[in-house]
Amino acid sequence: MVPGARLIVLGKQGAGKGTQCVRLSHHYVVPHVSTGDMLRAAVKQGTALGLKAKDQMDRGELLGDDLIMGMVASRLDESDVRARGFVLDGCPRTVAQAEQLAAFLNPVELDMAVDIEVPTAQVLRRLAARRVCVDCGANYSVSSPPLINWTCDVCGGEVIQREDDREEAITRRLELYERQTAPLIDWYRARDQLAAVSGIGAPDSVTRRVIKAIEVRRDRKGGRFT
Ligand code: ADP
Repeated sequence: MVPGARLIVLGKQGAGKGTQCVRLSHHYVVPHVSTGDMLRAAVKQGTALGLKAKDQMDRGELLGDDLIMGMVASRLDESDVRARGFVLDGCPRTVAQAEQLAAFLNPVELDMAVDIEVPTAQVLRRLAARRVCVDCGANYSVSSPPLINWTCDVCGGEVIQREDDREEAITRRLELYERQTAPLIDWYRARDQLAAVSGIGAPDSVTRRVIKAIEVRRDRKGGRFT
């Protein structure tokens, strides 16, 4: 059995984080913990958290650090994560979140933070063309739509444009990324926990690059997952 992993995946909106995180979670057999998916599920279920989060999410604003870290900490405390690790997608997104996360995980070490790099011009094109299934979250684009009339090939759900993939919200999300999230790249680099990987090309090639970067680091640490 492949050893578990404790990974954080960073990258601009539209860099392919979600896609790569699902693949990494299958490869290392660990839960995919996505703050965006957890929040969208809360919105759909109409929970108190969802009602609070919806407007800010639609506008592309970030939610408060304490609210996010409360939600993430309780997920990371569950037995599946404790036993095998996690692929964390969408968190941390601010230095304050990274600090809280490191304190929460201590004394257990992160394997690494992977930054998936894609130029802004390219993510803008990807986001404007992105369409998603409202039920299962499967991704499509205007140039590769589902087979039948914008219903999901996987589950038959309706395939639409995410509210926060409209132009105004995209601009805001990328602005917040540059200001709040990009500094995390240096934060993890300074702790010798960063691998930067190109996110250009077919998803399979990106996955191979990411796994290679993780394995190179593991070899350096003696090949152990502890
Ligand atoms: P993206 O990375 O493409 O913006 P996500 O699906 O990861 O999308 O997140 C959707 C929205 O959920 C964000 O725009 C933000 O409003 C909220 N959110 C998710 N994760 C966080 C976080 N770590 N801190 C603050 N807000 C968050």
